[in-house]
Amino acid sequence: AIPLVVAINTSLAARNGMLVRDRIAMEQARELDTVVFDKTGTLTEGEQGVVGIETVEGVDEDEALALTAAIEGDSEHMIARAIREAADERELSRSATSDFEAIKGRGVQATVDGDTVHVGGPNLLRQLEIEPAPTLAAFAEEAGTNAQSVVYLVRGDEAVAAFALADVIRKDSHQVVNALHDLGVEVAMLTGDSEDVASAVADELGIDTYFAEVLPEAKDEKIAELQSGGELVAMVGDGVNDAPALTRADVGIAIGSGTDVAVESADVILVQNNPADVVRLIKLSRKSYRKMQ
Ligand code: ADP
Ligand code: MG
Repeated sequence: AIPLVVAINTSLAARNGMLVRDRIAMEQARELDTVVFDKTGTLTEGEQGVVGIETVEGVDEDEALALTAAIEGDSEHMIARAIREAADERELSRSATSDFEAIKGRGVQATVDGDTVHVGGPNLLRQLEIEPAPTLAAFAEEAGTNAQSVVYLVRGDEAVAAFALADVIRKDSHQVVNALHDLGVEVAMLTGDSEDVASAVADELGIDTYFAEVLPEAKDEKIAELQSGGELVAMVGDGVNDAPALTRADVGIAIGSGTDVAVESADVILVQNNPADVVRLIKLSRKSYRKMQ
C-alpha cells in the first residue's frame, strides 16, 4: 500500500509546484522539528544594491568604488555584481587587475599596480587582523542596525572604504515564519553575512535561532548541531554554499531558481521559487501520511 500512497503523494506535490526527488524526505516532512532557511536569496530577494559609501580621509568615493569594482571583476557573488553595477552607474572605468582569488565566505583579492587589494566583509577584516578607522566603524554600525551588509576595501593593510548594501526581505517571509510556528515547527536562519544583519533580519521575522558569519564549509555542521538531539531538520537554500547543508538535512529543500548544485543536493525542489511552499509541503505530508496509519 505504501508505494501507491507515495505515488499519489508525489504527483499531488508536483501539482503544488514541488518536485520530489526523495520520497522518504517527503514522508519525514510531516514530523519536522525545525526548518532552517538560508538568508540571502531565500528569505530575502537576494538582489543587493549599494546604498552608501564611506571612505577614509584622502580617498575619493569614486576612486574607491572604481577600485573595488575592478577587484570584484571576476566574482560571481551577488555583492560583486552590486558593486560593479554601482560603478557602471557612475560610469567609472576599472583599472587592470591580476591574480584574482576568491576567499570563500569572506571576500576576494587581486593585485593592482603591484599592490594586493582585498574586498570583503567584517570576517575578512578579522582574518587580516585589520581594525577599521572610527569613521568606517561608525558607518558599519549604522548600516548594521538597518540590516544592511557592509564590505570593506582594503589596500595594503588599511581599510580605506566601506560600502553598505541593502537587500529586501521577501514579502512572503513573514507569513512563512508565522505559518511554521502555527504548525509547531521552529524556524532557524543560516547565513555567511554579519551578526548585525542576521540579528536584524531574525528580529524582523520572529525567527527563533540564527547562525551568522557561517563559513560555507561549516553550514552543514550547524544542521548537524540542530539534529543532535534526534530532531528532524529541514534546510531551505539556493546557493552553491548551501549544498552540503541541504545534503545533511533530513529534508533538503532547494529553491528552483537556485544554482544547479543546490538543486541536485535537494530532496525537494520548490518550482515556484517561493519559500511559502515549505508550509504547503509540510501540510501535504501530514495529510498524505496520516492516511497510512
Ligand atoms: P551568504 O551567501 O550567506 O552571504 P557567503 O559565504 O557567500 O554567504 O558570503 C559571506 C560573506 O563574505 C558575505 O556576506 C560578504 O561579507 C563576504 N563576501 C563573500 N564574497 C564576497 C565578494 N565577492 N565580495 C565582497 N564580499 C564577499
Ligand atoms: Mg543564498
